[in-house]
Amino acid sequence: MACRICNNDNLIKFLSLGQTPLANSFLEKEDLNKKEDTYPLEVGFCPNCKLVQLYYVVPPGMMFTNYLYVSSTSDTFKLHFSKMAEELSNLMKLDVNSLAVDIGSNDGVLLKGFQKFGVRTVGVEPATNIAEIAKKNGIDTINDFFNDSVTDQILSSKGHADVITANNVFAHTDAIKRIIYNVKRLLKDDGIFVIEVAYLVDMLQKMTFDIIYHEHLFYYSLAPLDYLFNQQGMQIFDVQRIPTHGGSLRVFVKKLESSKPVEKSVSEILGKEKEMGIHELRIYENFANRVYEAKEQLVKLIKGLKNQGKAIAGYGAPAKSTTLLNFCGLGRGFIDYIVDENNLKQGLYTPGTHIPITPPSMLDKRRPDYILILAWNFAEEILNKTKKYKDDGIKFIIPLPEPVTV
Ligand SMILES: [Zn+2]
Repeated sequence: MACRICNNDNLIKFLSLGQTPLANSFLEKEDLNKKEDTYPLEVGFCPNCKLVQLYYVVPPGMMFTNYLYVSSTSDTFKLHFSKMAEELSNLMKLDVNSLAVDIGSNDGVLLKGFQKFGVRTVGVEPATNIAEIAKKNGIDTINDFFNDSVTDQILSSKGHADVITANNVFAHTDAIKRIIYNVKRLLKDDGIFVIEVAYLVDMLQKMTFDIIYHEHLFYYSLAPLDYLFNQQGMQIFDVQRIPTHGGSLRVFVKKLESSKPVEKSVSEILGKEKEMGIHELRIYENFANRVYEAKEQLVKLIKGLKNQGKAIAGYGAPAKSTTLLNFCGLGRGFIDYIVDENNLKQGLYTPGTHIPITPPSMLDKRRPDYILILAWNFAEEILNKTKKYKDDGIKFIIPLPEPVTV
């Protein structure tokens, strides 16, 4: 297989998380007896452009037509996106004549923020059910992938864009070069393209390996992004580290025509990456060893509790929980049920492991002894919300970077 950025065909495989179902393929009750499709989850490193990437790419049509992730269900994300809209509106002095386009606009949570500043907005969202939610919320949304014809459609109906955003999109699609091509067509010459991607350095340091699943094809450091945008005739001019998804990069990109200065942040972060060895295979081999070790520890803890007859529930069924549960082999024999506030997920079963997902009130009806926090990036928010259970003697397990019981 060749690198998806530079075409180098000498990728080096460093981590295998086994055969797993798609992370968002939650099951209806009547599907439980049917055979589930699983795909290899293996990660490799390109020594040429430094991109970390999956070996096996699931066709996109399989993944995004009925997506269950709604940005606005998390207060943290709502706040994040409304702040982002405010910052970009101020930075670019946007007004009623400006146009903001969001690629992968989900339920319109970011565009809603732009609308507060009077900015005209268009969202592009491939998941049909989520695009419907956005439209109901009054966000003009095109239900499609961001492709050539969608770009033409926006150009002819709204004109060129001042700001194009793509949050957590660049990891999800193999079509990154075509996206950049269309962004260049759609963007004003002095407009900006802003992307957010989970940051590989944070994944390595915080052991958030559960963000590895088939929908995330790429795990970016700044170096391969810099390579990619140069290759495609654009330029990164600023970069920020932000806390979303356990640590992400917000990358600001401009056209070559734009006179915006390139900030120091770009060379600083590139320099730090080089210093920490992110361009060398060794750091990935060490990471893989830590991942296998973390699995061993968590499985040992959970098995030990089951042997003592303890009842364990899960908290949160984000996509990442599919990786953790399948990789660790933790199914219904270990975890009785998982509570999740997202009502689109309630009543469904986890992919591969078949654990029922229930409303949070289940914790009162079937009291567990332990609660495994699967949405562990929100551990603090969850612990605050569930204080009454902790006061009642229920223990919580935070699974990673190494399992901790509180
Ligand atoms: Zn490469």
